[in-house]
Amino acid sequence: MFQIPRGTRDFTPKEMDKRRYVEESMKKTFTTFGYREIQTPLFEHLELFTAKSGEGIVDELYSFEDKSGRQLALRPELTAPVIRFYVDRLQMEPKPLKLCYFGNCFRYDRPQKGRYREFWQAGCEIIGTNTAEAYAELIALAYYILKNVGVQQIQLCIGNLTILSSIFTQFHLSEEDQKKLTPLIDKAQYDEVSLVLEQLGVDQQKIHEFLDVLQTSDTKKIQQQIKGDAAAEKEFIFLETVLDFLKHSFHINDYQIKLSIVRGLDYYSGLVFEIDAPVLGAEKQLCGGGVYELLSLFGGTPTSTAGFAIGFDRTILALETEQFSFPSRHIDVYIIPVNEDMIPIALEIAYDLRKEGIVVDIDLLRRGVGKSLKYANSVQATKAILVGPKELEKQALTLRNLETGEQHIVPRKKIVSTLQQ
Ligand code: AMP
Repeated sequence: MFQIPRGTRDFTPKEMDKRRYVEESMKKTFTTFGYREIQTPLFEHLELFTAKSGEGIVDELYSFEDKSGRQLALRPELTAPVIRFYVDRLQMEPKPLKLCYFGNCFRYDRPQKGRYREFWQAGCEIIGTNTAEAYAELIALAYYILKNVGVQQIQLCIGNLTILSSIFTQFHLSEEDQKKLTPLIDKAQYDEVSLVLEQLGVDQQKIHEFLDVLQTSDTKKIQQQIKGDAAAEKEFIFLETVLDFLKHSFHINDYQIKLSIVRGLDYYSGLVFEIDAPVLGAEKQLCGGGVYELLSLFGGTPTSTAGFAIGFDRTILALETEQFSFPSRHIDVYIIPVNEDMIPIALEIAYDLRKEGIVVDIDLLRRGVGKSLKYANSVQATKAILVGPKELEKQALTLRNLETGEQHIVPRKKIVSTLQQ
């Protein structure tokens, strides 16, 4: 017996129905926001991912050497591949360029509920604009993708790395200190943050103030903290404009300012945001995104880039936890030849109905009528057609409603129109 690799999953037809429903809904929302889908390869040169994040990231990747000695990696995310593609072939496209994608990613993570080694992301990048309305639209897109899919409880948090960096400076924390602190802040391990600050000789009052500003959603308090830092003040005013658009133009009021959002990857530069599904508990983050800089590193002409990635698998987990009723796919009609002589005509009827786009299944096991009806019920067919010699003599068929058990004779010529009613 072969085992499935750790952290990967097989999906049953029922699970695939759910996944396709969610995927289609997400793609529809991307489309309504003017995004066009692209696709990039499953594996890339390893360097694409180490260029910004450093060699340390290799531990988290599925990397390998191919037969010609190239160092390759299965993609852990799609932003770097999309920017590579953009630099290679899309730089001359009219701006802003709105690209979306949907694909599986691979990380050498420790598997648990909501965390897999193969998982799917739905995401997008917007290239060539840095207006407040563009960023507000980007956040709104992530928000409405999740809302339109049917997730009821979501928590949108918005942060800003320029402002956070200014706060670090206000508290006289060096870049090295910041590197130590940011992973702890990212994981909301505030006791550890406090400990590190103590070791750095920061006094208790200052530690308290620092933790307070990291966790506050009171914009006045934040504004107070960055007074005098022109770059941060400018970013703060910009952030307020983004929030204004979100509220008044995109009708999103349920957001929270959270400076402790630092994002795991090293690309991000200014505005950042995350969306959580609190019902999920530990692995509750559904979406992460923001403004980032990768173009210059990848040899492209610098322009603004921003984007987000939604965890597709966790979105489904959130829907299931909220008892979302997924639309089920069904078979419109199950055709049963009542004896072997009826098989050719039954197949012909199936052909005629399928041509009209009707979802048809047919008995392929030469089972009796009773067993076939049982099977038709088990595959949730809504109707059955019984093809029998007596009715056929009169150019007719028996149509049975499998929900009510009612059945009547329908002229063969009228079967398509009757089913389409
Ligand atoms: P990131 O690229 O790390 O910002 O991730 C974006 C989103 O992908 C996260 O918010 C998660 O929803 C999802 N995600 C990241 N890593 C995993 C994983 N190992 N398994 C399942 N989903 C993941």
